[in-house]
Amino acid sequence: MERKCIRCDENMILNCNLKVYEGGGALFAHRPIYSIYRETIGWGKDEDIKIAVCPKCGYVEPYIQFPEKLL
Ligand SMILES: [Zn+2]
Repeated sequence: MERKCIRCDENMILNCNLKVYEGGGALFAHRPIYSIYRETIGWGKDEDIKIAVCPKCGYVEPYIQFPEKLL
């Protein structure tokens, strides 16, 4: 799969993750995985959010790899 930057048409770096730091000292932690979730009958479905980054302008775009799974 390829993804072009919507600003400068450059091929984006795929499969990056978003990282958020919280706490301090021994409680310092990060949660690298976010997901899109949709309530369905039985088990819900969720897809991890991946991040694409443009190496030229730095534009950051979230996406999911298998959006059809949420149908
Ligand atoms: Zn760009």
